[in-house]
Amino acid sequence: MPHVVTQACCGDASCVYACPVNCIHPTPDEPDFGIAEMLYIDPSTCVDCGACVTACPVGAISPGHRIPETQKRFASVNANHYVDPSPDAVRFPVDGLWRKPLAPIEKPRFRSSLPDPMRVAIVGSGPSAMYAADELLKNPQVRVTVYERLTAPFGLARFGVAPDHQSTRSVVNLFDTIARHPNLTILLNVEIGRDITLEELREQYHAVLWAGGAPTDRPLQIPGIDLPGVQSATSVVGWYNGHPDFVDATPRLDTERAVVIGNGNVALDVARILTADPDRLATTDIAFAALTALRASSIGEIVVVGRRGPEHAAFTLPELVGLVDGPARVWVDPADLEHIDDDAVHGTENAEKILLLREIAARPVPDEPYLRLAFGLTPDEVLGADRVTGMRFRRTGTDEVVDLDAGLVFTAIGYRGRPVPGLPFDDARGTVANVAGRVTRGSEPIPGLYVTGWIKRGPNGFIGTNKTDSTETVKNLLADAESGVLSGVHALAR
Ligand code: NAP
Repeated sequence: MPHVVTQACCGDASCVYACPVNCIHPTPDEPDFGIAEMLYIDPSTCVDCGACVTACPVGAISPGHRIPETQKRFASVNANHYVDPSPDAVRFPVDGLWRKPLAPIEKPRFRSSLPDPMRVAIVGSGPSAMYAADELLKNPQVRVTVYERLTAPFGLARFGVAPDHQSTRSVVNLFDTIARHPNLTILLNVEIGRDITLEELREQYHAVLWAGGAPTDRPLQIPGIDLPGVQSATSVVGWYNGHPDFVDATPRLDTERAVVIGNGNVALDVARILTADPDRLATTDIAFAALTALRASSIGEIVVVGRRGPEHAAFTLPELVGLVDGPARVWVDPADLEHIDDDAVHGTENAEKILLLREIAARPVPDEPYLRLAFGLTPDEVLGADRVTGMRFRRTGTDEVVDLDAGLVFTAIGYRGRPVPGLPFDDARGTVANVAGRVTRGSEPIPGLYVTGWIKRGPNGFIGTNKTDSTETVKNLLADAESGVLSGVHALAR
């Protein structure tokens, strides 16, 4: 039985490089890698060796005969990816199967012309920072110091992943291993701009790599948005994960219905946790205060609202499979699925989402508390005088008004990077201005300054996506060091 990639796929592609027969796609050099919702094993070419299982940092790959019951659907999700070969697929000469060619992997080499020692500061200790540190430390001349504002490392891997996604959270074990490298120092509780300036940092290191993420929410600008009872999904995620910035962000759960605006994976996380069985959450590392509050919750329904139709849902297929086959109680009103253009979604990843949504819609309304996926509603106004009493929507593309009573409204419409003093900011993208990780002013790179992660590419992708992203930045940083661009920039670092 071939191996199968399941829900927790983090996309860091370690499995791709471990696979001896190139049966896992898309690979980081294939065009669809950046937009793929997960990686897939080709069942017709997998030789069942298990190399990918060992390489995966989040335990997302199972041998076909041992897939957990709730993940069984992923066998067909993996196989279906290979049904229609893309135009750039070629027939593999040995077995005649469809396969995309894997670009040659760059061999590690000893970079003899790096400064020795070469000192690099990384700001932030989340996934993109740790993957960058790992890549840098492959060079014995490099010494890395990671600066972290909080008193615990690993950023979103620790404080952003939902507590019922224990597999994904296990990526911190990989970061722990990286952190033990003798040439790496992590300084906790140090904030750049408060305890030390960026300029001071630049004076002491050959290069500064900013990996501070996209820490704010995209704002939803509609009337009533400032009413008590409206809060960002980020604050709720931080609250149930024990993030020190959000200990006071307890939502008032004494209401029958809550609404989540946006239907990305963050929206699903929040709605799933707030409707989960507290006894099940008690087996996870959810913050104790959150668990206590959830035990007393009166919420019966959380409506996750997308402004576009189901064929454009922002949540990913793996998360939807997890919702449908897992312990969550979920429902879709069949009326919301009436106007789908099946021709438009045929052959796309979204076609499988539609099948699953139809499966949910055919089920009876679950017992409370449950999560409802609603579509085609554009937020117009938060209703209420002293606090939220409901949400007013327009049916998207029409003037039809749809009101929903609700005592809580969570906005989950994406994250946004914050300007970093001293680094040019691209306001339109909400990122630090950069080309492939080199920070730029105008079109010119600023020697010695680099970015990676969400502050480089914007708030998209999974934890493992940062591996490829950070590898690109580090490659350019090391190329600059080798070509002498960094020498002479930072007096004390030499
Ligand atoms: P996201 O995937 O970009 O979803 C944002 C949602 O907000 C979309 O539904 C979008 O609708 C909607 N939206 C944006 N502006 C809006 C407006 N003005 N009014 C109403 N709706 C609006 O963002 P996210 O959920 O924050 O996730 C960020 C990234 O982290 C994603 O790549 C996600 O996959 C990843 N993530 C992954 C996991 C996981 O793997 N378990 C968990 C959490 C996050 P439109 O589509 O119509 O624009």
